[in-house]
Amino acid sequence: MNDKMLSLGQSRSVIREIFEYGKTRKAEIGADKVFDFSLGNPSVPAPECVKSELISLASELDPVMLHGYTSAQGDASVRNSISEYIEKNHNNSGLPISSPDLIYITSGAAAALTCSLTALLNKDDEVIALAPFFPEYRVFTERTGARLITVKCKEGSFRPDYEKLDAALNEKTVAIIINSPNNPTGVVYPEEDIKQLSELLSRKSAKFGHPIYIIADEPYRELVYGGAEVPYIPNFYDNTIVCYSLSKSLSLPGERIGYVSVSPRAENAKNVYLAICGAGRSLGFVCATSLFQFLMARCLGKTSDISAYERNRDILYSALKEYGFAVTRPDGAFYLFVKVPNGDAKAFCEKAKEFELLLVPSDDFGYEGYVRISYCVSENQIKNSLPAFKALADSYK
Ligand code: PLP
Repeated sequence: MNDKMLSLGQSRSVIREIFEYGKTRKAEIGADKVFDFSLGNPSVPAPECVKSELISLASELDPVMLHGYTSAQGDASVRNSISEYIEKNHNNSGLPISSPDLIYITSGAAAALTCSLTALLNKDDEVIALAPFFPEYRVFTERTGARLITVKCKEGSFRPDYEKLDAALNEKTVAIIINSPNNPTGVVYPEEDIKQLSELLSRKSAKFGHPIYIIADEPYRELVYGGAEVPYIPNFYDNTIVCYSLSKSLSLPGERIGYVSVSPRAENAKNVYLAICGAGRSLGFVCATSLFQFLMARCLGKTSDISAYERNRDILYSALKEYGFAVTRPDGAFYLFVKVPNGDAKAFCEKAKEFELLLVPSDDFGYEGYVRISYCVSENQIKNSLPAFKALADSYK
């Protein structure tokens, strides 16, 4: 037996732990009495185009093709559509930033990340994650024998701290994971950050004599509010691998569909891509679900009604500020990152349970003293939970 795998299977993530507690509690006292803010499971339904395109795919396409294996890297026509979409909508640099031959279709962003990390990493290599970060980065990295090095973002703005990053980069650094819009802070890194990051990584790559890749983890790309812009990193930095999915933008997390796009301007782009294909093969992915590959090509650029998330953000952010909590106003994703009054996030989450509020402590995100609130819930849940948040705040006064 592999002890590492056994211990991963035995230990549930903190988020799942709270979610499971929520299910039990809802059965005990009624679902409407429990305010579950634990999971990032989109609450807005997939848009109408998903249903209509699924119906037309089922009636138009040959069922053998529709349900058969595609090429391991994904159907060629779908990869063409993705690349065309990227060039048309994200390219402002004049040079190609994608190629159908460098796109690998995956079972969501999680598989995209696992394949990319497995492709790049050898034992004892290092990958940097900017904290707070999605906890699964550690799991995906450590399975390769490499180490996840965490660099804390600046408190308050939660944007990268370049001095700390400069100090963490060394000859063992192979990649850095950039997640914007960010889970758990909701922060969107502005162009200024991407430029500064690119300059630093280019300088360090030259110094160490090997490329340091950016793995751009972008499942929340379209979830931005108030006109916030998410810079497309391959326009700024050549050695970029984009990991994308439809889980959040189209509310399809259970369908497991996404892709990796290696920039054609990346050093060794073809070999990086082949290693990603090899990683997918060794992990037994075979190919991503065919039906949703074809659906993806037809729904590129479409989103669920994200205005519902924006309304939730506005209601909850204003209320929490009014109750005295320190919160960074997020421009994207669907999370609020809230500072805990006395610094003990786990104790705060236990206290919150007394008010039937289910929140996630920040410790596993690599940043102590905060809680994550997933506001991808119904507006009613947000409104009904406000007295509980107020009571929780008062209990700390
Ligand atoms: N990356 C981040 C930052 C996430 O928050 C998530 C899911 O919550 C993922 C990746 C995985 O997404 P997917 O469902 O597309 O695998």
